[in-house]
Amino acid sequence: MSYLLEIKNLNKNFGATKALQDVSLEMQHGEIHALLGENGAGKSTLIKILSGVYPQESGDMLLCGKTYSPKSIVDARSLGISAAFQELSLLPNLTVAENLFLPNIPKNALGLTSAKKVEQMTEQILSEYKIEGIRPSQKVELLSVAQKQRLETVRAMIHDPKLLILDEATAALIDPEWLFEQVDHFTNNGTSILFITHRLREARRLCDQFTILRNGCKVITEKFDGISDGEIFRLMAGRSIDVRFPACASTVDVNNDEVTLSVQNLRADKKIPKDDGITFVLRKGEVLGIAGLEGQGQRELFNMLGGSKPIVGGSVEIEGCSMKIRNPHDAMKSGLVLIPEERKTEAIFPGIKTSCNVSISVLDAVKNWCGIVNRNREIDYVDFASAKVQLDNNYYGMPIDALSGGNQQKAIVGRALLSNAKCLLLFDPTRGVDIGTKQNIYQVIRDFSNAGGSVLFYSTELPEIVGLADRCAVFYRKKVVTEISHDCLSEPAILEAMLGMSPDRISGEDNA
Ligand code: ADP
Ligand code: MG
Repeated sequence: MSYLLEIKNLNKNFGATKALQDVSLEMQHGEIHALLGENGAGKSTLIKILSGVYPQESGDMLLCGKTYSPKSIVDARSLGISAAFQELSLLPNLTVAENLFLPNIPKNALGLTSAKKVEQMTEQILSEYKIEGIRPSQKVELLSVAQKQRLETVRAMIHDPKLLILDEATAALIDPEWLFEQVDHFTNNGTSILFITHRLREARRLCDQFTILRNGCKVITEKFDGISDGEIFRLMAGRSIDVRFPACASTVDVNNDEVTLSVQNLRADKKIPKDDGITFVLRKGEVLGIAGLEGQGQRELFNMLGGSKPIVGGSVEIEGCSMKIRNPHDAMKSGLVLIPEERKTEAIFPGIKTSCNVSISVLDAVKNWCGIVNRNREIDYVDFASAKVQLDNNYYGMPIDALSGGNQQKAIVGRALLSNAKCLLLFDPTRGVDIGTKQNIYQVIRDFSNAGGSVLFYSTELPEIVGLADRCAVFYRKKVVTEISHDCLSEPAILEAMLGMSPDRISGEDNA
């Protein structure tokens, strides 16, 4: 029988890093195959070779029985493989329409591009793929991460590939139903999909088979039937892992303890009435979970507090003092440190050494009187942060963008820990990172709160909120509608509140 795709003994090194070692894999026509593995396992490297981003060092690929060696992304696309990349490849300054068609923007018979025509075509595609709330003429930088991810996905789909590659396509989507619907539609036409995810539940739902990579090597290809999640995690990690959350802070007294952050009627939009903004308090030593469906105001909250979105009205107090937050510098001075949603464009300084990416928050402290950085002191700080987040010091000298997503996130969290924050603002900090790194981030959050820090923690994964938070504030229609106390925290309780179907307070004490 002929395969759609055969990969034979693929190798790829980055300097001393063996990103892929003798990896072989076959896919049938019409097969949906999951590619699993911890961060740094080599998944993205494999799909980048498949989609023409860079060549392999050795090994062969066959597509429909013919030698396949794409010279570029465009070449791969024309041969029948197209990919939606994990670190989105959209160009922020261009419009939705331009991004969708790049680099081949449709031209008329005279060889001219008509923006109007392209936008009309885009309009049609967006509605065909059920993407709402985006205009073709909109700049991509104004879209949310979830919207960008959908756009990236659709862009890969419109070329009618024989093989569609989705790298972490659901990581930013709280509601993966949209993707499932598109995938169903797609595979009806006989297209194959290589699906990379950290979410086993989704992989099981979509795929028949999976392949696990670990440290650049293939571990196994298997059918999902008859193998447990625990076993799969064990194969991914090479050790046994079960997801555990550190113990909650039993010491926080929600009635009496000191308030670190108090937010009153905070508004990002003039249209919201003065007394209808975002209101909540966060206590010393507390982890406040934030939940909400996509677009309910939680993103605006984090960006306002982090100084990257203007505050239209309302007040912010830190330890009882009113604060003006007009920019990220004001936020830092107030003790608020944001770990933003998008690593690639908002958090890392690409091309710059990982150690400098970590130490940037203490640059003033490591400079001597004439402004020269004392490298030894700098490394002391970086070592301190790296120990907390378990970042390997072999990465210090590498440009941060060469690290896997999970290691980049460790560096960013490490940087935040150095910044003397009173309050960490974590917007979906475990998005697209592997289970080991997740566990590490949970522990860092709890250690920080146990030491008296406060944490605002938004996650699209409800089990994380239930497992980690001392309390949860749920957003609906641009404000906090329900607060759920620790003893009442459960996935169903949060979900109900996310749909706007709960009272404003859910607390065990009320029933006592
Ligand atoms: P995954 O997608 O499974 O998380 P990657 O394929 O991104 O893993 O990375 C595999 C390994 O290759 C990691 O150790 C990573 O640091 C390294 N790596 C990936 N891309 C580069 C690059 N451009 N330069 C240097 N090292 C890289
Ligand atoms: Mg990856």
